[in-house]
Amino acid sequence: MKRAYNFNAGPAALPEAVLAKAQEEFLNINGSGMSVMEISHRSKDFESIINKAKSLLIELMDIPEDYDVLFLQGGASLQFSMIPMNLLPEGKTASYVLTGSWSEKALKEAEKVGTCEVAASAKETNYSTIPALDELNVAENAAYLHITSNNTIFGTQWKDYPETVEVPVIADMSSDILSKKIDVSKFGLIYAGAQKNLGPSGVTVVIIRKDLIQKNAGLPTMLSFQTHADNDSLYNTPPTMSIYLLSLVLQWVKDLGGLEEIERLNEQKAALLYNTIDESNGFYKGHARPDSRSYMNVTFTLKNEDLTKQFLAEAKEAGFVGLNGHRSVGGCRASIYNAVPLVHCEELASFMKKFQAAHTR
Ligand code: PLP
Repeated sequence: MKRAYNFNAGPAALPEAVLAKAQEEFLNINGSGMSVMEISHRSKDFESIINKAKSLLIELMDIPEDYDVLFLQGGASLQFSMIPMNLLPEGKTASYVLTGSWSEKALKEAEKVGTCEVAASAKETNYSTIPALDELNVAENAAYLHITSNNTIFGTQWKDYPETVEVPVIADMSSDILSKKIDVSKFGLIYAGAQKNLGPSGVTVVIIRKDLIQKNAGLPTMLSFQTHADNDSLYNTPPTMSIYLLSLVLQWVKDLGGLEEIERLNEQKAALLYNTIDESNGFYKGHARPDSRSYMNVTFTLKNEDLTKQFLAEAKEAGFVGLNGHRSVGGCRASIYNAVPLVHCEELASFMKKFQAAHTR
């Protein structure tokens, strides 16, 4: 069976080896005679799966000891609310950097909870840029500074992160977690829905500095970080299947050589597509300014809308999946997360060149 050239933005491609392993173990996890979906979340078998996922993530991302790793539900979208509910007390301000639709949504939810300010916005450039670090206006009494490390829809990505002395930096890393080495100690909290680089949808990873986990008696139990930290992410029934697949994806990253190797591959994949755009004499136009380009989501248009439509139709015909830009911005987008093989990017680059040759007189 030939696997699709899958450039979906999320849920997205998973490593073939992970799916094969899951298939092999599907009816019988750990010799239990049951599938992972049928075992108790309080069983030894599941305990070893969730512990493995946690310890692999800690190892791969080099997460310091003063951080906790939580596996939650509700997607990254629930974190838009949980973060201010837990970390934005009265009398403090949350600072948000707007770099696209997801940061706008994060801000909108936080505003329902407390006082917020915009520390910088790239809206004027139609979100084709990342604001310069020295242009961030962090509120004086800031509880935290929120950024979106990779902007899935517009295709931009932070290269360096803000370093604030006292104010914790919180990053929505939904679309670039585990794609490169980062220094976790620069962040107070990192969160990510799993369905791009970590596994299937259903589980949300939160990496939180322990001193930020505080009692807040007024909060609904399920919305308090403390509940999940106190119960090792097993306060209620977790998404067992998603956590199992997450553990397999993490093992795959480790077997591949860890984040250094993943980063090297991701740079290679992104370069293939961006070089094709840059060498096309304007036939393809990248949305992001070159210094702000994402290595995960490559966004571009063609000379005009008709040609863009034709490109998407012919690409689909040729077996490329998921190249339509997000419904809010149009154009084309190739999402090239960790699990997208280099050879699929080579095929896409070659298709783009052939399409250009066929449509240039
Ligand atoms: N943040 C970013 C950067 C995203 O790309 C997405 C989804 O694509 C979300 C948040 C929302 O994630 P979820 O669907 O897990 O709530």
